[in-house]
Amino acid sequence: MANEVCLRNLDQERPWLLEQYQSRGGYEVLKKILKEKTPPEQLIEEVKQSGLRGRGGAGFPTGLKWSFITRNAPGQKYVVCNSDEGEPGTFKDRDILRYNPHQLIEGMIIAGYCIGATCGYNYIRGEFWEPYERFEAALEEARAAGLLGEDLFGSGFDFELHAHLGAGAYVCGEETALLESIEGKKGQPRFKPPFPAHFGLYGRPTIINNTESLASIPMILEKGGKWFADVGVKNSGGSKLFSISGNLNNPGVFEIPMGTPFSELLEMAGGMKDGRKIKAVIPGGSSSPVIPGEMMMDLTMDYDAIANAGSMLGSGAVIVLDDTNCMVRVLERMSYFYHEESCGQCTPCREGTGWLYRVVSRIENGKGCQEDLDLLDDVAAKIAGRTICALGDAAAMPVQGMLKYFRDEFQYHIDHQRCMVGNGQTQ
Ligand code: SF4
Repeated sequence: MANEVCLRNLDQERPWLLEQYQSRGGYEVLKKILKEKTPPEQLIEEVKQSGLRGRGGAGFPTGLKWSFITRNAPGQKYVVCNSDEGEPGTFKDRDILRYNPHQLIEGMIIAGYCIGATCGYNYIRGEFWEPYERFEAALEEARAAGLLGEDLFGSGFDFELHAHLGAGAYVCGEETALLESIEGKKGQPRFKPPFPAHFGLYGRPTIINNTESLASIPMILEKGGKWFADVGVKNSGGSKLFSISGNLNNPGVFEIPMGTPFSELLEMAGGMKDGRKIKAVIPGGSSSPVIPGEMMMDLTMDYDAIANAGSMLGSGAVIVLDDTNCMVRVLERMSYFYHEESCGQCTPCREGTGWLYRVVSRIENGKGCQEDLDLLDDVAAKIAGRTICALGDAAAMPVQGMLKYFRDEFQYHIDHQRCMVGNGQTQ
């Protein structure tokens, strides 16, 4: 089973159009809910039963998150969609915006109904011009058709939805930085608690969900939470989009059931380019610890299997590396990214990411010394868990993973001032 939920419409011509979405029963779930005035608690229970976990990386159960909001509390509440997809290796949510924007809109309206919100925002990454315009066009279609606005389907329920284009900061994918950015402030994470469910956008109760999570909602409520849960495996309900890239013949986005063997996903991606040996896999975006290729071939793609192997499923961004890659060089590139993207609020992250980059860089450039390996370990340990957002951990975890499995390559660089594989920069 593939392409059953978020990308189920890919066989249609111009699948992003409203008429195409409606030809497959689009907005019927919303209509039924509003006309029958289905109790929100019942819908949230269904989402809980589906086992849907946040598809943005954290994997927090979506239904549980919705239940944190007191629906009947007075005042505005907000639904916010996080389409600020910026983790290196991740490129799945943009395809939902491009090819199935109405399913996301329907999911957001239903989320609004469930938590008692009449307003939503979709925060879209600043570089996503085409997906942003596609989503804006879908919003216009929905408004013109009376699917957004006042008194939807004569139910008395109002919902308005806006797209908000970011300005290109990776850290705005962190939910509270995203809220600051929508409010027109500098996109920096807030100290927590309070969490957004109590103090979110403009200080009001807010749920923030990933694009894929919200786009999964109409199908869950159409076919039932149990159906969705049964598509996947225990603790990992449903299907999931995986963006798989690296040294492959056919990199791309694939929607497959949770629990699918990695070897099958690799086959869908056309296998290793030039028939080379698989060396390593970064299974959940650049912040997840690396897993050696042979170990990965025995794993399945679900939260528990990847966590038991010492890494994270994250957003489902799978980076596959063959044996021509120098792992020191790979880590240098990743460390530079996190150093560049640190917002600078927390000392361990602001200073530590710079230390990590500089130390890895000097090892890569043949100027490392023996003490540098312990120094890397030490700096990474002093960042992890000591910052107010996950970017600090994201910078530290790849270092720890690389040193765990590929320490010999770092040692070789130090001992020989050059790389042990073909394409390393140190010669
Ligand atoms: Fe900013 Fe880094 Fe602290 Fe996150 S961990 S708030 S990015 S300094």
